[in-house]
Amino acid sequence: MKPVGPIPSGYASIDGELAIGGQRVSALVADAGRTPLFVYSRSHLDARVAELRAALPARIGLNYAVKANPHLAVIGHMAPLVDGFDIASSGELALCIAAGIDPVRISFAGPGKRDDELEAAIAAGVTLNCESEGEASRALTIGARLGKAPRMAIRVNPSFDIKGSGMKMGGGAKPFGVDADRVPALARHVIDAGAEWRGLHIFTGSQTLNADAIIEAMRNVLDLAANLADAIGHSLPKLNMGGGLGIPYFPGDTPVDLPRVGAALAERVNDLPPVFAETELCIELGRYLVGEAGVYLTRVIDRKVSHGVTYLVTDGGLHHQLAASGNFGTVVRRNYPSAIATRYGEEAIEEVNIVGCLCTPLDRLADAAAMPHADVGDLVAVFCAGAYGATASPAAFLGHGPAAEILV
Ligand SMILES: *Cc1c(COP(=O)(O)O)cnc(C)c1O
Repeated sequence: MKPVGPIPSGYASIDGELAIGGQRVSALVADAGRTPLFVYSRSHLDARVAELRAALPARIGLNYAVKANPHLAVIGHMAPLVDGFDIASSGELALCIAAGIDPVRISFAGPGKRDDELEAAIAAGVTLNCESEGEASRALTIGARLGKAPRMAIRVNPSFDIKGSGMKMGGGAKPFGVDADRVPALARHVIDAGAEWRGLHIFTGSQTLNADAIIEAMRNVLDLAANLADAIGHSLPKLNMGGGLGIPYFPGDTPVDLPRVGAALAERVNDLPPVFAETELCIELGRYLVGEAGVYLTRVIDRKVSHGVTYLVTDGGLHHQLAASGNFGTVVRRNYPSAIATRYGEEAIEEVNIVGCLCTPLDRLADAAAMPHADVGDLVAVFCAGAYGATASPAAFLGHGPAAEILV
């Protein structure tokens, strides 16, 4: 038997079925008309933002990193809840604009921005978080051609990253950002060239559960930003301090101690050097905002036994849930939180392997998991599916196509 990860709080059961947003999963599937189905919960999104607002000092704004979940209805729901939106492509820009978000609230990071993407962003008035000298120079040229001063910040490649971060994105050689020692010269160059100077972006990592590591990274980010502002000789209109707060996926994972992070930030923010007097501060979060708000529902298509092992074969799989299958940035495969959604709360009486419908042994949703007895037609729920699910999985692989998505 292998344990499954912890089911996030806030999910209820009605008549022995998992309920999301007050509706039974079978009713949600009937509404959507098919499985597999991603269900995103408004009340979870609201609750998470409220927790963050309560814990963080008012001085620190909250940005949503759209790549975690770019479903249009989710972006639209986040629009009044957060301060800014971080995008990583012109596709995400188009979605934010379709969701009615004012481009002044949007910043665009990501290596390899094409000229047409820079042009769309500059024309719309989006802030570019420049990833290199070359990109900055292309942006200035495009701005001159459009007769519009680009709004430009510089993404810094810091010499440190968050300890224990699930995905290292700072420290040493990286495709992201400009090495810290070259930032002052580039900043002065873009300011002198007439760009609208927007400050710095320093992102140090992702999926961290350790509050102390997050606090230390934020402290290092503020120190580095203060030193860079001094070296640039201009204050920072804005500082995007990164984020990196993770969510528990696996057995033994515990949630980030958010009040502790908030208290440490409040202490620090009350004692900032004068160079930050006019600086707008924000953190950017993807997974932490939306991850626990999503549930992936897939139907059992077959129940079979091989060499004494029971398999529940579903109509979903790694083409929608690459991360849960263990093939997206994990070294050792462990079980995501999952359950038989149509027998929610029933006692676990058997050990099953829950697999997807793809013809590859990689397509596993839960290994050797203790579950109530499930039959063909039952629904399986995979939790923590709100971030890096639908759009971070190879939906075209084997031709089953994308899952449905709804916000409830
Ligand atoms: C991916 C990414 C994020 C979001 O990371 P999460 O772990 O989902 O919070 C934020 N900022 C940048 C620059 C990113 O690339």
